Amino acid sequence: MEHESVERTLRTGYPEAEARLVTHCGSCGGELYEKEEVLLHDEDVFCDNDCLLDHLIDAGHVWVKVLDEEVPV
Ligand SMILES: [Zn+2]
Repeated sequence: MEHESVERTLRTGYPEAEARLVTHCGSCGGELYEKEEVLLHDEDVFCDNDCLLDHLIDAGHVWVKVLDEEVPV
């Protein structure tokens, strides 16, 4: 028997310890919990590629451009 698990269930109503909120995504502001896989850039934490990319575009590190013939190769 998993004593700890049973005791926690009685105490909190959940068999698993609640994941601890660690920080928020630097782009969407979503909550990021302990043991989640995140992306780090400088001092900021992001929940996924899309959020990191949005941040980089907002910060002017990445530009969105429609390709035309003037783009050198
Ligand atoms: Zn995010």
